[in-house]
Amino acid sequence: MDRVYNFNAGPAAIPVEVLQKAQGELLNFNHTGMSVMELSHRSQAYDEVHNNAKSLLKELLNIPDSYDVLFLQGGASLQFAMIPMNFLNNENIAYYILSGAWSEKALSEAKKFGETNVLASSKESNYTHIPKQFEANSLQNAAYLHITSNNTIFGTQWHEFPSTNAPLIADMSSDILSRELNIEQFDLIYAGAQKNLGPSGVTVVIIKKDLIEKANKNVPTILSYQTHASKNSLYNTPPTFAIYMLSLVLEWVKEQGGVAEIERRNKQKAQILYNAIDESDGFYKGHAEKESRSFMNVTFTLPSDELTKAFVQEAKENRLIGLSGHRSVGGCRASIYNAVTIEACEKLAQFMKEFRKKH
Ligand SMILES: *Cc1c(COP(=O)(O)O)cnc(C)c1O
Repeated sequence: MDRVYNFNAGPAAIPVEVLQKAQGELLNFNHTGMSVMELSHRSQAYDEVHNNAKSLLKELLNIPDSYDVLFLQGGASLQFAMIPMNFLNNENIAYYILSGAWSEKALSEAKKFGETNVLASSKESNYTHIPKQFEANSLQNAAYLHITSNNTIFGTQWHEFPSTNAPLIADMSSDILSRELNIEQFDLIYAGAQKNLGPSGVTVVIIKKDLIEKANKNVPTILSYQTHASKNSLYNTPPTFAIYMLSLVLEWVKEQGGVAEIERRNKQKAQILYNAIDESDGFYKGHAEKESRSFMNVTFTLPSDELTKAFVQEAKENRLIGLSGHRSVGGCRASIYNAVTIEACEKLAQFMKEFRKKH
């Protein structure tokens, strides 16, 4: 069966080489005579998968030993709640910069646990850019400052991270592993796996050990970072198959030349699509302001709803899938995560050109 060009926002494309490897190992994983799904999470065979995923992530992102890597469940959405539960108390304040719908959701969870402060927001412009006007270097009683590094729905991305005196926390669900990072700028990074890391079911958390020390002690055991850090993310049954898939995706990234090479390709891919928008004489309009444009989610509108519908329909007939925009932005969105090829972006740009000429 022929595979399509998959521009889904999440769950999203997975490298075909990874899917083939998983298929080849599905019935008999590493001479165990069973699928990786059937292994005990306490077995040596699974332990190797688990620790391999962890050490590959550390290697690919240059994560220092002063950080722990955790594999949790509940998606990024559970992190919205776990973060304030663990770090917000009666004496401090959680600061948020709002750059899209996901940051709003993160903030609304924190409000349930203590005092919050919106340091900056680009909501008035329907999140067309990353907020610029704010001062984060002298935050009072800060529990942390939370940002969303890439705004999946609106197609904007932080290209330079804020400097701050507060512990910096970033939701990187839709751009982790897409570009090189200085991990030491952050105290906690989290990401649901289903955009850049593999299938849904596992959430990666990269957390500074110092920050774990500061966590509240009176949170439920399963929701405490301390629990998962002290048990190597094996306190309870982890999502073993999702972690196995994560390990295959990480091996794939390494084979491609690592994060630097992935970043180079991602910039090239984004450029192909932004050129198609910018060279369309206003037929396609980018939602994001140029300096805030995302390399992962390219959002654009067409002159009318009828044309948008026709675009999505004709694209589908050309095997270009997943291009409807989110209802809060309208128009179209091409999600071009790590597993989406340069060829797929070229095909889409070509289709955009032909569609414009036709209409
Ligand atoms: C997809 C996404 C989420 C939601 O993730 P779940 O795993 O479904 O909870 C949160 N934040 C960002 C930036 C996302 O892209």
